[in-house]
Amino acid sequence: MVFSQANSNLCIGINSGANWGDPIIQWGCYFGDNQHFTSSIQPSFGVIDTMVGTDVGFDIQGWTLAPNASSYQLGYQVLVGGSVVSSSLANTYRPDVGAAFPGYSDYRGYDLAVSVPLIAGVHTACVQSNSFGVFSTLGCGTYKWVQSNNGFLGIGDVCPMTKPTIGFYDEGVGSGGTVNFFPTAATAALRWSSKSTKVLFVQGSTNKPRVRVRSGKFGSGFTGDTSNSCAGPWGIGLVASSKVLRMNEQMLNNDINSTQALETAIHELGHALGLDHRNDPPSQTVMRSSGFSPVDLPNYPTVSDVQNVDSKY
Ligand SMILES: [Zn+2]
Repeated sequence: MVFSQANSNLCIGINSGANWGDPIIQWGCYFGDNQHFTSSIQPSFGVIDTMVGTDVGFDIQGWTLAPNASSYQLGYQVLVGGSVVSSSLANTYRPDVGAAFPGYSDYRGYDLAVSVPLIAGVHTACVQSNSFGVFSTLGCGTYKWVQSNNGFLGIGDVCPMTKPTIGFYDEGVGSGGTVNFFPTAATAALRWSSKSTKVLFVQGSTNKPRVRVRSGKFGSGFTGDTSNSCAGPWGIGLVASSKVLRMNEQMLNNDINSTQALETAIHELGHALGLDHRNDPPSQTVMRSSGFSPVDLPNYPTVSDVQNVDSKY
């Protein structure tokens, strides 16, 4: 339908539902000074949250929405090697996404069991969502079909390459520890979430968290560390995408204070997001390999740190 005609511009759109009064989605405009049609359809966006190996492929989970289709659930498809292997509608319950994007409903998630061709080797799988015929890639991941002498054993080394709404949860205090550093880590996560345009930590709200926080006494020599479960050889069906962040009470107790703990947590979450150490001045980065800078802590993560994270997602 034509919904606006002014100053010799002609704009057309689509009634989004069967009834008058349903939202109109603007398709684009002809502008009076030339003959060109400019589409205003905005591409969809979203993420892969988790990708977990199964006996026949992987389960893949995330969410997607489109800016000018707030009342619509989007179709999506999974491609392996450029070919579509599965497709469905993004309509599963994700209250965290609804909370993060007011105006959309809580049903913008997807969760799909995907079967893949039995071809040995490492393969790339991507998810695309569809907004009015415009497909956007939400992210990709890799998996490996492992072959034995007897044939195919199954899927291993499943690793999403994009990391998105990052589920984040507390594994509690162990290893003889007495202090729970999860509140500190949650503050650090909020620092990253509020500054980054690409990553959003969601506390304990997904059943497949990407970052687990453990508090305890883990030996001397470090205040915290982060391990990447994609690094090792993983068997069939194991989750190979989560990070384990350890906050070490033993080290922090030597002269424990809340600013050191917070700087440690911001630094370790930087590792969890994919950053390596950078030996630049404390004013430039929280990702130094050692030392603390209470005077710079209010600015951590720095603009540069956030740019480095955002460039990865
Ligand atoms: Zn480090």
